[in-house]
Amino acid sequence: MGRAGNTHASVAWHRDPHVFFQAIGRGRIAPERRVTLRRGAGAVKVGLSIGGGVATMEQLEPRELRNDGFTSVFIACYEDEMRWHAQTAADFSRACQGAGLEVYVVPLGYGRVTDPDASTESLYVSEHPHHCQVDSRGRKVPKACPNNPAFLEWFSSNMRTLAWLLECRGFLWDEPTMYGARGVWACRCEWCQRLFYGEQQRQMPLELDSDVARFRRNSLLMFLLAAAAAVQAVDRRLASVVMPTSLQSGRDAGLGSDTLKPLAQSAAVDMLSVYVPWQSAGRDMEVALRSTVEEANAAVRAERKPLLIWIGGSPHPRDKLLEALKVARNAGVEQMVIAGHQTLTASSAYERFRPELARTIAQVR
Ligand SMILES: [Zn+2]
Repeated sequence: MGRAGNTHASVAWHRDPHVFFQAIGRGRIAPERRVTLRRGAGAVKVGLSIGGGVATMEQLEPRELRNDGFTSVFIACYEDEMRWHAQTAADFSRACQGAGLEVYVVPLGYGRVTDPDASTESLYVSEHPHHCQVDSRGRKVPKACPNNPAFLEWFSSNMRTLAWLLECRGFLWDEPTMYGARGVWACRCEWCQRLFYGEQQRQMPLELDSDVARFRRNSLLMFLLAAAAAVQAVDRRLASVVMPTSLQSGRDAGLGSDTLKPLAQSAAVDMLSVYVPWQSAGRDMEVALRSTVEEANAAVRAERKPLLIWIGGSPHPRDKLLEALKVARNAGVEQMVIAGHQTLTASSAYERFRPELARTIAQVR
């Protein structure tokens, strides 16, 4: 998300903290609505996403996170940082594992096929414009093409290196998308045209028809298979977790929140991850959370794959974090991740909020 044409803030790593800072400085804060925990509901394991790169890793104390009740961390590893600071990430990852936290690596940048935030730099994209996706107007977009063999080789090799360096339980592929905005779509590069012709025995049309839609979706699924194979070649136990983009449809993005079923059925997906963007979508938290959980469960149930639900979080009551944790438990969510290290643990109100959050995490687990 956050790609051209979308003005909303990216949820997972850069949820707009200024909204919270503005609000917290002013006057009284209304108490959260009380959600009563349903008896007999299952336990929720709560994870934390850590964006912000190596600077953040150097500030966080994994043992404190564990003491707060978190059981897992999702660490953003940026392409342009990993060139020079991979050791910092490796040390942090080891410290997290040592503290009893499950670690998932979230590679960001790396050609920007997985692309939750358009502002994430990718040196690969700037140095290899000829490996980038070509849109339906013939223009290159700043996103590598998942069907480009040279890119695929580079990507796989980089993921193998990350998997070697960082002790972890798995990798999360964050919002893999084909470019699509305002009626313009990608990719019509020579590789995609060639592959499409090979499959369909006709030239790739300029309109995004159903064959093209299927081609784009399959291109991403094949890319995810390659990504999973790369890290599992290093350690076959590494989980491949896929988070489809939540704010674009599968038709625009190739994969979206309306294509959970093919994702769940894919061998590239060991665990399906779904974000609930109730704040940016202007929805009621409880309704959005419950309906998302229901849809996602319907997609994974037959495949018997675990589900991970993400929710944006900050200490501000407007984000209803404590309430959301209880709603999740009542809805039978087993694994939940709070998105937004910047908005939560890095916020000035976190220390005051922390005991209450830890109490709630203890209540739901
Ligand atoms: Zn292409």
